Formats: sequence, C-alpha cells, structure tokens
Amino acid sequence: MDYPRPHVPVQPVISLETLGRERRQSTPSVLDVGSTLHVTSGRMAIALALRRMTIGAGDQVLMPAYHCRAMVDAVVWSGATPVFYRIHDDTSVDLADVAAKATASTKVLVVVSYFGFPQDMAAIRLFCDKRRLMLLEDCAHAFFGRIGNRPVGFYGDFAVASYPKFFPVYEGGCLISSRHSLGGIALNDAGFAFQVKSALNALEKGFSYGRLTAVRRLVGIPMTIKDLIWRSVKGRTRALHARIGPMSADGGSGFEPEWMSMRASLVTRLIVRYAARSRIAERRRAIYRALQQALGSMAGSRPLFPCLPDGVVPYVFPLLVDSPEQVFPALKRAGVPVVRFAEFLWEGVDENICPVGADLSRRLMQFPCHQELSTREIKWMVDRITAVLLNREVNGNELETLSH
Ligand SMILES: *Cc1c(COP(=O)(O)O)cnc(C)c1O
Repeated sequence: MDYPRPHVPVQPVISLETLGRERRQSTPSVLDVGSTLHVTSGRMAIALALRRMTIGAGDQVLMPAYHCRAMVDAVVWSGATPVFYRIHDDTSVDLADVAAKATASTKVLVVVSYFGFPQDMAAIRLFCDKRRLMLLEDCAHAFFGRIGNRPVGFYGDFAVASYPKFFPVYEGGCLISSRHSLGGIALNDAGFAFQVKSALNALEKGFSYGRLTAVRRLVGIPMTIKDLIWRSVKGRTRALHARIGPMSADGGSGFEPEWMSMRASLVTRLIVRYAARSRIAERRRAIYRALQQALGSMAGSRPLFPCLPDGVVPYVFPLLVDSPEQVFPALKRAGVPVVRFAEFLWEGVDENICPVGADLSRRLMQFPCHQELSTREIKWMVDRITAVLLNREVNGNELETLSH
C-alpha cells in the first residue's frame, strides 16, 4: 500500500537557523574523538572499519540481534560471518550472551547506542580487552553526547556515525577512532554531478517542507536556470555512472561498495562543520521532553526509556505500542513521520535468537524530535498520534491543515 509523504519531515531539513555561531561551549560529539574520515554513509564507514581491522572470510563479527539491515550488509560484504547476540529490555548489551557466543574466530563486537542513549561503553571496553575482541561503536543514533566525561565514540577501536540523522544533509557519515590511525585509507571525490546533487537536495528538501521560503523566492529564477543546467549534467553523466548519489542517501537499504572510497560531498562537510551544534542538542532534548510529556502516559503504549538522562542527545522519541498491526499503518495513512528501526531483521534472526529484539522490531515506533521541527509541526504530530492511539477517526480535511 502506498502511504502519503509524511506531513512533517522525518529527518532534519535545512532552515535559516541551521548554521550559526555557538553561544556556548560546543556539545560533545563523535567529531571530538580523534581521527575522522567523512564518507558517504554510516554503512560505508562500518565496511571501512572492518577492512581496516583486516576482517574477512573465516572471521566472526558479533552483531546485535536488533539492527538495521545496512549494518549486517557491511559485515557480509567484508566476507565475515555475522553472529547475533541478545540485548536486554532497555536495549543494553547482554554481555553474558556475547560471552557465550564468542569463539576463537570472533574478532569484533559491534555495539549500538540505540536512539541516542549510550551503552555502558566503559564496561564493554573492559569486556573486549579481557577477551581480545575489537570494539566497533555504532553511533548512527548517537552523534552527540558523552559517556562519563568522554564523548560518544571514544571507547571503540573504531566508531561510525550517520549524518542525515542529525544534520540537514543529503548524504554522509563518518569513521572515527581514538586509538588507531586512519591515515592509510584514501578517499576520492565523487565528481561534480554528486556535489551538485547533494547541494540541491539539501535545499529542495527544505523548500518542500516550507523552509527558506524567502530564499526560495530569491532563487526562484536561478533555480529555473539550474533545472536546465541540472538536466544537462544528468544527461552527460548518466552514461558514466549508474547513479549520481548513493542509494543510502535516497532512503534505500542497499549496500553499494563502489561508494566506499568516496568522500562526503563538500556541502555535507560544510553543514556538519558549521551547524549550530548546541542548538541541535538543546532542541532535541526539549522536543523529546515535550513528546514524553504529551505521549508518555497514553493507554496502549509506553515510552521505551523512562527518562532522559543528562548528556543524552536523542535521535528520536521511541514509543512501544501494544497493537502495532493497527497503529503503524494508521499512523502512516495519517501522514505521521513514523519509522520502525529494525522493521526488517536479517533472515533467521527471530525471537529464538533474541526475544527483545524481535519484540522491539514489531512494537517500537519512533517519532522525530529533530532540531528543525516547528512548534506547529510538533503539535500536529502529537494530535495525530493521540488520535490514532485512541482509535479516533481523523478526517481528511484535518490532514490538509499542514500541507506545505
Ligand atoms: C542508519 C544506521 C546505520 C547506517 O547508516 P547509513 O548512513 O544509513 O548508512 C548504521 N547503524 C545504525 C544503528 C543505523 O540506524
């Protein structure tokens, strides 16, 4: 079934407030960890990390049984075998299960800090050191934040993050390390068409959600000229490259190794560098709290996390619902920006392997709390979610009130 495009942007879209000078000391993030490579997606960063650790055929990589397919694709691409471990109810790593599943062939433990809530990385680091495992910290949901007085991403041999989840960019991710040099990894620029596509996509997504309307008017005529240029660029490059941008950037779930050695676009790198970071952290925390307040005690659901600890910068607001089979499609039909992380688990990963992962994959709905949501959009989203959870009909006219 085809659902309407979400009426509220699922991920950050560019606005006049996106870039700005920091008012206070910058919020800690993965970029404070050490060496950094800006690549085209988080999954490419995972694949590069595995290659840098010389992981390949015959090796095993311990992966959480609650995951997105892109993570597993990267492991399979490396030639290694993914082995899935359990997580607890609160998404923390089940170290007893990890210990039980580790063999002489196990080389790497991959750990995800789900939805921006960091794992107990100091303890996991000790565990890995004792067993001579390398640690890959997946910070795709946890770009910002600290663990004790260390930034997220510090404890892993390598860490990865994904830019479009936290910044209004078309594509990008990073590979970082506080322990190893990344010097041996050479990256190339993906070419002019990709640079143009990344820039235009960031702008157009903003325009399509009613952002930068003054800019849009201002650039109205140049954009028409741009369309002509763009068409000719596309026409010329189509023969050369099958695709101008990676599938990951267009919401796809594929793994395209040809993007592995490519650098993130210039526009992505500029936005990540000059974004007002403390605004991102503060807005996300504030919106998360507002959603918790509004939706935290609705019948038929409960928030995954009971509170928002200091230093956590949430990726989304995760809500566990009792009847996902009704609620999820109803939310999608209403144009609510709902996403289910791990909606499709890797083949063979089921409740026997990890009951919690299988349950979360079915029942956990995530709603955006990103910095670019307006008060009006938050209110609209809360009203729609409430109506769906209370099983109240929402009529079509009401839905039109937020069209851009
Ligand atoms: C999104 C995601 C990735 C992959 O990031 P992309 O930039 O989409 O390739 C990896 N791990 C987790 C936990 C993710 O949510």
